[in-house]
Amino acid sequence: RSAPNDLAPYWMPFSANRAFKADPRLFVAADGMYYTTADGRQVLDAMAGLWCVNAGHNQPRIVRAIQDQAARMDYVSSFQMSHPAAFVLAERIANLAPAGLDRVFFTNSGSEAVDTALKIARAYHKVRGDANRVKLIGRAKAYHGMGFGGLSVAGIPRHRRDFGPLLGDVDHLPHTHDLAHNAFSRGQPAWGAHLADELENIVQIHDASTIAAVIVEPVTGSGGVLPPPVGYLERLREICTRHGILLIFDEVITGFGRLGAPFASNALGVTPDMITCAKGMTNGAVPMGGVIASTAVYDAFMTGPEAAVELMHGYTYSGHPLACAAGLATIETYEQEGLFDRGPEICAAWEEAVHQLKGAPQVRDIRNIGLLAAIELESRDGAPGARAGETVNRCFDDGVLVRVAGDNLVLSPPLIITPDQMGQVVDTIRTALGEVA
Ligand code: PMP
Repeated sequence: RSAPNDLAPYWMPFSANRAFKADPRLFVAADGMYYTTADGRQVLDAMAGLWCVNAGHNQPRIVRAIQDQAARMDYVSSFQMSHPAAFVLAERIANLAPAGLDRVFFTNSGSEAVDTALKIARAYHKVRGDANRVKLIGRAKAYHGMGFGGLSVAGIPRHRRDFGPLLGDVDHLPHTHDLAHNAFSRGQPAWGAHLADELENIVQIHDASTIAAVIVEPVTGSGGVLPPPVGYLERLREICTRHGILLIFDEVITGFGRLGAPFASNALGVTPDMITCAKGMTNGAVPMGGVIASTAVYDAFMTGPEAAVELMHGYTYSGHPLACAAGLATIETYEQEGLFDRGPEICAAWEEAVHQLKGAPQVRDIRNIGLLAAIELESRDGAPGARAGETVNRCFDDGVLVRVAGDNLVLSPPLIITPDQMGQVVDTIRTALGEVA
């Protein structure tokens, strides 16, 4: 696992938590469900890279589309100009999203998508003459990327601690997750929807006329795969609508098939005012993110006598030709391979597979929704996360790529995973747990 040159100046993404510092794993090729390591081993990818390679690695249609586009036109600005594929991709995405969400703004990452949505939310109220509505509401345990906007609304204290001051005017909803109620539940837990009503308390304390938006991940991802209780998102939607607050779903993980439907908003039947997306949008092949906004949000800026000509937002690489080509080929792949249609069947098989780990050593909880799962382990005294970290290392040595999030093993395989491969993931984890103290 060692790097080719320990003295090389490459500064990798880091955590100051030394317990998680490990030599980088070096990969040199990828195909379908597998990575090839620098030392020639095949590793089954149970994380879809980093929750993004939803149709499997090096999908030929996507590779070809990127190659063709690179040979045709490398770059065009998206300020006052564009290229046809950007329009076609926006339309395809809008057609996948729930009705009413029909405008797509392109970014280059999930973090930029989140910052974009937060900026749009504030500006939306401003252009409507409601300049006091600036407050943003996030949620405990949430991850919304590494920009200052996303960090400010996110709810993982360790990520926020060292980078302040962050945005003021932010409050956080409590999280619904409580192990005592939740252990080994399948899909969405039946309890806890009432915790959405905490939003009503925040509204009463601050006054609705000061609140711009609420942002939540429909399924908390990096915080440990925590599905929303049945009815929770519906209640958030109802409270936001009643008070004129915009609701943003961060679907960077849940978008593009992860829950067996194009978006969690489709799968769970709740339509926000904006969706942020990235990752599976291009199957991980080229960086791209986006905000899918409602007609009402779009119209506030772009139509009517007070069109917001002085507002300014956009990126050099918004709607990059390579990303648009990859995005179009990705959607074609999902549709032609039937990955959305087969979602319910694949997700049901996945649920059966991961719950076979109930009773394995140290397993404290198992959660699943769509093609996501977390195996929560008992925390080792004085060393939270250590057992999960050691288990993930053993799985890697045994040929399966799994990720750690606190005391959880998290799983997010490509949607092309077969029942046999699901079995391999589960067997490898069970063996690793038997070897870790
Ligand atoms: N939001 C969510 C829910 C995410 O999971 C992530 C990335 N894991 C992001 C935002 C940030 O995306 P990126 O790393 O592409 O900036």
